[in-house]
Amino acid sequence: MRNQFGEDINPKPETPINAAKCLDCGTVLVSRYRHDFQTCRCGKLSVDGGSDYVRRAYDEDSHVLEIRTPDELVAALAAREEKP
Ligand SMILES: [Zn+2]
Repeated sequence: MRNQFGEDINPKPETPINAAKCLDCGTVLVSRYRHDFQTCRCGKLSVDGGSDYVRRAYDEDSHVLEIRTPDELVAALAAREEKP
């Protein structure tokens, strides 16, 4: 499984998923390790912390879908080109 940047983001079952989707631009962000700071295309959402901690940064008016499980990640990636 790869994200929009072509990076391998295969989740390990034993590792909690630190991911979220920006519903404003459709970008799926996955923070895979500590200090893996990812920002979406429109710049409204950032995720950080990998499996060590969960950190989010987003504007008050942005729309964010939290992703906790591999199934949710697959669904979010499959739907990423849809307009919100
Ligand atoms: Zn965005």
